[in-house]
Amino acid sequence: MDDCVFCKIATHDIKASIVYEDDSVVAFEDINPQLPTHVLVIPKRHYWHIGDDVPEQLIGHIYSIATEVASIKGVDKTGYRLVTNVGEDGRQTVLHFHVHVLGGAQMPIRMGPAD
Ligand code: AMP
Ligand code: ZN
Repeated sequence: MDDCVFCKIATHDIKASIVYEDDSVVAFEDINPQLPTHVLVIPKRHYWHIGDDVPEQLIGHIYSIATEVASIKGVDKTGYRLVTNVGEDGRQTVLHFHVHVLGGAQMPIRMGPAD
């Protein structure tokens, strides 16, 4: 996808601080971190979002690598959140499927039923 910043990170045409890489995925530091740990895990191939016919095996791999990234960043014991925004209502801003790995401090907002 010519105009896609994450495709360009995947091909190393745009620089990123890479945390993990293999044949199908790359994980890199978010440029505008919302918490002390904020890493994005992306497939190297372009998909608009998680609902864009992404192979199940690749989705599984991305989530597996997200947990690996949590270990690499040292937040696996303290906890973390995995987030995938989809589309306009999901407030997705980069239209290339990605999973946010967020941790290193308590989340500002609790998801799920109110306390
Ligand atoms: P989303 O709003 O879920 O689409 O998240 C997109 C994320 O990509 C945001 O958290 C941005 O800070 C991040 N981002 C955008 N451009 C870059 C870049 N060149 N390198 C690293 N992270 C980026
Ligand atoms: Zn892309």
